[in-house]
Amino acid sequence: MNRSLTLTVRNLSLSDVAAGLIREHAEKLESLGHPITACRVVVDVPHRHHHQGKAYDVHITLAVPGAELVINREPHEDLYVAIRDAFDAARRRLDDVRRRSASNTRRRRNGAKAPPSISIEPGAARKDHIRAMLHRERDAVIDDVETQIGRRLEEAGIEQMGAALDVEDRAALDLSEDVDLALLGMRYRKYKDLSDAFRRLEDGTYGRCETCGIDILLHRLEVEPSARHCVGCLERLEALERVEREEQRFKTAYTPPPRGSVAG
Ligand SMILES: [Zn+2]
Repeated sequence: MNRSLTLTVRNLSLSDVAAGLIREHAEKLESLGHPITACRVVVDVPHRHHHQGKAYDVHITLAVPGAELVINREPHEDLYVAIRDAFDAARRRLDDVRRRSASNTRRRRNGAKAPPSISIEPGAARKDHIRAMLHRERDAVIDDVETQIGRRLEEAGIEQMGAALDVEDRAALDLSEDVDLALLGMRYRKYKDLSDAFRRLEDGTYGRCETCGIDILLHRLEVEPSARHCVGCLERLEALERVEREEQRFKTAYTPPPRGSVAG
């Protein structure tokens, strides 16, 4: 988690205590068992009228497989209350996501009538519905990126931006220093996932679980348009990833460097 946490501070200097508290809260979120791949926290003191006094804005963006959760709260005049409220809200959002995916799994296990899936009604209307949905999502990502970097991007431009992010060649982007590359990277990955979803829609594999081959439920695709696995397989894959991460951590901690290797 510590490695996936990005903390950005604007218009104030954050004390070590406050920064430590944010790290602690972020670690606690992951300890709940959610596979958080990125956690972005922005602490800001937005400009307000004098009579309103100073207030702190704590904004959290969480990337979990297939989704990005954005937590926005009203600014609070006490920084510590603002931090606590923001993370409380983040935890509730993660709980919601987990409850929804658990109840979907349960419904399927109980053999209840599943919501319509794509292959049951493979009609052109359904494909159009999905295509429109993917377009909406992609336009929103492009809008976000344009707002963030403050200039128009052609579609070729966004691809180029991604290539630059992949090789971490910041100079190629010609962006100002204060552009948040972590957030930009998150948005670009979402854009790439959506482009891939378009390709799969055209070749007829969209909406099918890549692991077990069953149809992913349409209502889940509406929430996670670039989903590639059914909820059951996703949960198993994530559990496996956690085990592998733990194994890697164990190996790193206990394996001595090979003989003859140069330290440092
Ligand atoms: Zn599956």
